[in-house]
Amino acid sequence: MNRHRLDFAIVGAGMVGMAQAALLAVRHPDMRLALLEASSEAVPPLSEEYEPRVVALTQASRELLEEVGAWDAITGRRACPYVEMRVWDADGTGSVRFNSRDVQLPNLGHIVENNVIVAALRARLETLPNVEVVNGFRLESWWRDCGLWHLQPRGEERLSDADGLRQQPEIVRTRLLIGADGARSKVRDLLRIRSQDTDYHQTALVCVARSEKSHRHTAWQRFLQTGPLAFLPLAGLGDENHCAVVWSADEGLARELLMLDDQAFALNLEKAFESRLGNVEAVSERFSFPLRARHAERYRGPGAVLVGDAAHSIHPLAGQGVNLGFQDVRVLADEIDRAMSRGLEPSHASVLARYERRRRGDNAATLKAMSAFKSLFGAGDVHWRWLRNTGLSMVDASPMLKKRIIMRAMAV
Ligand SMILES: Cc1cc2nc3c(=O)[nH]c(=O)nc-3n(C[C@H](O)[C@H](O)[C@H](O)COP(=O)(O)OP(=O)(O)OC[C@H]3O[C@@H](n4cnc5c(N)ncnc54)[C@H](O)[C@@H]3O)c2cc1C
Repeated sequence: MNRHRLDFAIVGAGMVGMAQAALLAVRHPDMRLALLEASSEAVPPLSEEYEPRVVALTQASRELLEEVGAWDAITGRRACPYVEMRVWDADGTGSVRFNSRDVQLPNLGHIVENNVIVAALRARLETLPNVEVVNGFRLESWWRDCGLWHLQPRGEERLSDADGLRQQPEIVRTRLLIGADGARSKVRDLLRIRSQDTDYHQTALVCVARSEKSHRHTAWQRFLQTGPLAFLPLAGLGDENHCAVVWSADEGLARELLMLDDQAFALNLEKAFESRLGNVEAVSERFSFPLRARHAERYRGPGAVLVGDAAHSIHPLAGQGVNLGFQDVRVLADEIDRAMSRGLEPSHASVLARYERRRRGDNAATLKAMSAFKSLFGAGDVHWRWLRNTGLSMVDASPMLKKRIIMRAMAV
């Protein structure tokens, strides 16, 4: 594909960037797109083993993945619908249970491994003739000229020709630039957009655990004073006894947990989870991620916008991160459609401003809610403890309130 005058260039082939590329390519078959990814590796083939990094996809995210034509490949591989969510306070009696029956739906969402989503989106992109995925393109610098962005990759990753001679890096030129390059976004830096950062001083440990009892298609979350612990049900492999574990813990505790051998870690996990699913019989390798919330002060610059974690990253306690990113993807595509139906250039400032207005408030509200949750459940004070236990019990006793919470969470 000629990369000299693209309509859209998307930087970052994570879940959000891939979904954005696929949605724009599907809706606008006459437009030319490139998806530029720093990593030079193609998507690795899926293994039979579970991947510990998972997301809890909402109904709204599922609809987006259906529209781009990736959902069937996801369910064909592995996706676990969950019908119930149980949340309880380690430090009291408060608990709440949300069930899909409360809203007359077959499930509350799906737990899916990240690499299953990535593989499905990548396979779909390969079938779309108007989009090119360029691996090994780490955006490093740019300039703007006559309404076009000129994007240049990092020097050492410039291509060598057949004789091993250095070539000039290929410059990609585009009318609209979409930054989907994750929490440490280069696009955000190049646009000189600052972000408000909160360090939670917590680390999320993730792994897969096999439990004695079935997960019963339930997402479990226990709030400990040191951070939330989630068991998220996984599908397939012949049983219902595997869960993805996300254990967000204060840094010191997380370090200690990481150093334990598997058997000792499994025992600690089981105890922290109050043996709700019986014994923890086996655990996989553990991975850790420092937890930070970040929100870009703006989502746009001239002819450029941010989507997904490049614009906002949140605490994983409610599993909303990628769902917010997918909503950015949908709203940006809707605003581009609207602009084009009115004869406006998709990169026009008013189009990008509408996108920012529609998404920033929603994302800010979710970020605030997550921080409030984190503070409320981290507080050891007896009054706070009373408040959260009473609050959880009140929600649990009110079908109306539960319904509203579920509907709101599913629409994200
Ligand atoms: C422990 C943990 C648990 C989580 N659990 C959940 C959950 O249950 N539910 C949920 O919705 N979310 C969850 N999240 C959040 C979710 O994983 C992220 O929101 C999501 O992965 C962000 O996707 P993204 O595509 O925006 O960014 P990323 O996945 O970070 O992708 C960015 C891409 O950009 C590329 N890139 C970076 N810089 C450049 C450059 N200069 N040039 C070109 N390419 C570049 C990177 O290589 C990468 O491929 C969790 C996060 C963590 C840490």
